[in-house]
Amino acid sequence: MRKLATIRRIDEILPIEGADAIVLVKIDGWQCVALKTEFQPGDLCVYFEIDSWIPRMPQVEHLYSRAGKKFNDREGVRIRTIKLRGQLSQGLALPVSHFVNLFEGSDFDEGQELSEFFFVGNDVSEMIGVEKFELPVPTELSGRARGNFPTFIPKTDQERCQNISSNIFIKNAGARYERSMKLDGTSFTGYHIEPDLATEEISGVCSRNWDLDMSDSNSHNSLVRMFIDSGLQAALHGFRRDLAVQGELMGPGILKNREGLTSHKLFVFDMFDIDSGLYLTPTQRHTVLEKLYELGLNKDMVQSVPILGMDVSLEELGITDIGSLLLSAEGASLNHKIREGDVYKRMDGEFSFKVISNKFLLKEED
Ligand code: AMP
Ligand code: MN
Repeated sequence: MRKLATIRRIDEILPIEGADAIVLVKIDGWQCVALKTEFQPGDLCVYFEIDSWIPRMPQVEHLYSRAGKKFNDREGVRIRTIKLRGQLSQGLALPVSHFVNLFEGSDFDEGQELSEFFFVGNDVSEMIGVEKFELPVPTELSGRARGNFPTFIPKTDQERCQNISSNIFIKNAGARYERSMKLDGTSFTGYHIEPDLATEEISGVCSRNWDLDMSDSNSHNSLVRMFIDSGLQAALHGFRRDLAVQGELMGPGILKNREGLTSHKLFVFDMFDIDSGLYLTPTQRHTVLEKLYELGLNKDMVQSVPILGMDVSLEELGITDIGSLLLSAEGASLNHKIREGDVYKRMDGEFSFKVISNKFLLKEED
């Protein structure tokens, strides 16, 4: 589960020209607008990342008229990227003191230091009832699941660069990456497991969270269709390794089909070796994709996600901090002048992160 609401420290507070009541607060790699009276530098806050959906409660009532959004039939507030007084504001920071009531009935005593309860990094999403806001599943993708997403394959999530800036710029200084284009469709995982003494061959296709029913009754599902029609299922069978192929399914009926495709296409961005529990390196992935084509995979329906750079370091791209990293993700996609962003994968396949373009986030509508 993504940590949507966490305890964080206010790093810096900056005035906003022409605004008396509000300020810009900086928190890790993020910045958001807050009430001037609420924070001093160094204060703890509850920080809600963009994509958080917060159930309607007094603490967020002031946002309800502007940001109210029903999710799973419940009233709440959706936190997203906005511009306020010309300032980019991402997420929501509220004083930890606003949430003391959540401890009523627990062992929290009046006068006890809040910091004993609120540790930097603590995930308070569940306590507050925060969920990840997701658009309703389009009919093209609806269908039945046969089970949960397999535990032996990682989900396709990527960490946002703003949350791991020291990991990127200090721990991974000098690291070399494959830089790929982030496409805005829906997550696809197709997998194959070889038979052994105890079990038969297993073949499956998953959405972001479910292992889908592949029987005829569910064959209208676009993910199931892609797995079978592109020959991916058959090619994986022929390849005879325990492998998962992960990509973004794009096309009619999927989100807004921003790339304007006329038929469904799968853009592969990861391959996972189920036996070793490791991702293939970007280089290995490109080699295996070629092998799968030889085994009959349809080149028109399944391609690699567009690669913007191979074996590059951030320095070589002129990227020195979060600011320049975010700017570098602004640009065109396949058929659209604003792409969602970039995904970086370290050349050993073991570290990756996403950089979402702020231009994209500000334009995003639903
Ligand atoms: P998000 O869409 O913000 O939840 O970010 C993570 C998702 O991006 C993954 O689950 C993938 O479905 C999708 N994605 C799109 N393009 C890429 C890419 N080039 N590399 C990795 N993931 C990608
Ligand atoms: Mn996405």
